[in-house]
Amino acid sequence: MKKIVLTGDRPTGKLHLGHYVGSLQSRIKIQDKKDYKQFVMIADAQALTDNYDNPEKVRKHVLEVALDYLAAGLDPKKTTIFIQSAVPQLAELDLFFLNLVTVGQLKRNPTVKNEMKEKGFELNVPAGFLTYPVSQAADITAFKATEIPVGEDQLPILEQVNDIVRKFNSIYGKGRNILKVCKPLLSSTTRLPGIDGKAKASKSLNNGIYLADSDEEIKRKVMAMYTDPGHIKVDDPGQVKGNVVFTYLDAFDPNKKEIEKLKAQYKKGGLGDVAIKKRLIDVLINLTKPMRERREKLARDPKKVMKILEQGSAEAKKVAAQTMAEVKKAMTINYF
Ligand code: ATP
Ligand code: MG
Repeated sequence: MKKIVLTGDRPTGKLHLGHYVGSLQSRIKIQDKKDYKQFVMIADAQALTDNYDNPEKVRKHVLEVALDYLAAGLDPKKTTIFIQSAVPQLAELDLFFLNLVTVGQLKRNPTVKNEMKEKGFELNVPAGFLTYPVSQAADITAFKATEIPVGEDQLPILEQVNDIVRKFNSIYGKGRNILKVCKPLLSSTTRLPGIDGKAKASKSLNNGIYLADSDEEIKRKVMAMYTDPGHIKVDDPGQVKGNVVFTYLDAFDPNKKEIEKLKAQYKKGGLGDVAIKKRLIDVLINLTKPMRERREKLARDPKKVMKILEQGSAEAKKVAAQTMAEVKKAMTINYF
């Protein structure tokens, strides 16, 4: 039996370096492992929960996210890439799962709570947004996925998912584990900060470096990065902790030994922000340039990219329909 992996991204913007280190990089490795089967979902229905008034934005970014995937190295021959709304079984399963959580539980979820605050949803939260962890439970269980490569922000959501799974199995399974609990696959950088020093780079806050950013944009963003406000002159001792440039160097610079030396020098004094920023610019351009070149080529034929998503969605639909049949049987609502 192969281990099943599922993750997704919301088509609310292009993918940034946080997505790359938090999840995408692991997915690219996993797709080559023989004992794994991987599904990657573009979560358009989830994106609409807080962008319901801007469907064009969501639609546009379905293609953009797909381009980022292919450019970064996800291979549709190895990974099933699909669009959430093109698999209606996911919405169906979500409907039954909604009975297995309370509104209070969802409101207390740390990730939901934090995002509601960020979006100003504390007083008037769309029901779809509040319940997105439930729809995520449907996405994961429909494929019987057990391994989920995600960033740290997703941990409370996965706990909620497993809570639903256990409740489902205990009520409808009569001792059988019809649905499977899942576990996160965390990378070494579980949460990449924004260039502004905020705890998380995110599409909604537009504080990330996008995989598709040009050399000039990368330069501009790195030069504007938050460092240590107390490190004014080159000779001043500087703080490494909370310094976004060092956090990014830790995440992306392959020469760990050299970074440790630079950190020691920075702490002592005598290493300027511009020097470390220049190093980071080089590292990031080296990483993203080949992706950008592939992206530009792929973007010339959007129909071909959409065809990949159509085929992936058809494949995903078959798998989800099979689980849905098992779910309905367990719930005794398999009438015909
Ligand atoms: P949005 O602001 O629309 O929620 P986002 O930038 O948070 O966008 P998502 O599509 O919600 O991105 O997340 C997709 C995946 O990338 C998730 O697994 C999430 O944990 C991971 N991820 C997102 N941002 C980061 C980050 N800054 N560091 C590490 N992982 C991240
Ligand atoms: Mg998010």
